Amino acid sequence: MEKLLERFLRYVKINTMSSEEGTKTPSTVEQFDLANLLKNELENLGLKDIKLTDECILTASLKSNCDSDLTIGFIAHLDTIPGFSGKNVNPQVFKNYDGKKIVLKGITLDPLDFPFLIDLKGKTLITTDGTTVLGADDKAGVAIIMQMLADLKSNPEIKHVNIKVAFTPDEEIGGGISSFNVKDFGADFAYTVDGGKFNEINYENFNAAHAIVKINGLDIHPGSAKNHMKNASLIAMEFHNMLPQNEAPMYTDGYEGFYHLCEIKGEVGNSILDYILRDHDLKKLNIKKQLMQDAATFLNKKYGANTCTVEIKDSYYNMYELLKKDMRSVEFAKNAIFSLGYTPTTEPIRGGTDGAKLTQMGLNTPNLGTGGYNCHGPYECACLEEMKIVEDIIIKIVTTK
Ligand SMILES: [Zn+2]
Repeated sequence: MEKLLERFLRYVKINTMSSEEGTKTPSTVEQFDLANLLKNELENLGLKDIKLTDECILTASLKSNCDSDLTIGFIAHLDTIPGFSGKNVNPQVFKNYDGKKIVLKGITLDPLDFPFLIDLKGKTLITTDGTTVLGADDKAGVAIIMQMLADLKSNPEIKHVNIKVAFTPDEEIGGGISSFNVKDFGADFAYTVDGGKFNEINYENFNAAHAIVKINGLDIHPGSAKNHMKNASLIAMEFHNMLPQNEAPMYTDGYEGFYHLCEIKGEVGNSILDYILRDHDLKKLNIKKQLMQDAATFLNKKYGANTCTVEIKDSYYNMYELLKKDMRSVEFAKNAIFSLGYTPTTEPIRGGTDGAKLTQMGLNTPNLGTGGYNCHGPYECACLEEMKIVEDIIIKIVTTK
């Protein structure tokens, strides 16, 4: 476990923040610092087919040492979020954590705010110093995968299937895996190891679409506007009020989808509404799209043709739609978790994942936990013992007969 800790602390100290402003992949060159370090470590471990692409996708293989021809992939992302500092990360290690408040620079990790901390009493807790993210999202995943490789290499008596690993950039801003070569990777199925509780398996995510609603008004001097003016801002409000008001992000959770108005711009002459639509159920997402078109049809009848147009594009899909045709990935993970004496849990993801895109690209890729908590801010922390359990889970997965 000390080796896993040492490895994790080494990786989090490397700044790999991605950037929304980046114009190519990777969005920041710093992500290569970690990729190159990992490439060296993979070479030292004696892995095969090591490749680091110009887009900062690092892949490698560990061949089967038994007669299995199954190939299982594990994927973690290199970057940390652009919105909060990941520079000069100064991790704090609390061995045998006492379950009480932890005071850091400017913030307090309080079990009253974060009840999961109570369960971590007696464990090794790794926190930030209060000024940065920790980067457990997803360097916990990177460390777990690397440690699995190191442990399999030093214990050749453990018989395992073919293993492929990939470390990828720009997950936090999306698009980092667009150039991922699924065919070349050659796995039968894969897992992202990217957060959540150690016994969690995520294989459902939102179906997602983006809608732009444009309203054309008629801007006339207000003094002589009677029976003529069409105020595009007011028509925009009318449009929005025709959508189900309770299907908004702040009123929904679990499997409930939503219409989210991200931005509204309006004058008398023109207005634009920018929405994202989300639903785990593709049929229900399509109903949401249709309702928007129906609202536009109503307004066009009321105010004249071409008053309102709705343009909708799909963004990504629920991986379960494809995954359900071959559930081996989920079954292997569930069995591995059970066999270690834990009960697997599944939570639908209320967002998208790189795994959802990979599944769309032909590689079934559910997500496994890491033992990291409170990602994307200074309260981020990780539990070493849970990280170790995840390593044991993925070793179980690759040693399944
Ligand atoms: Zn992540």
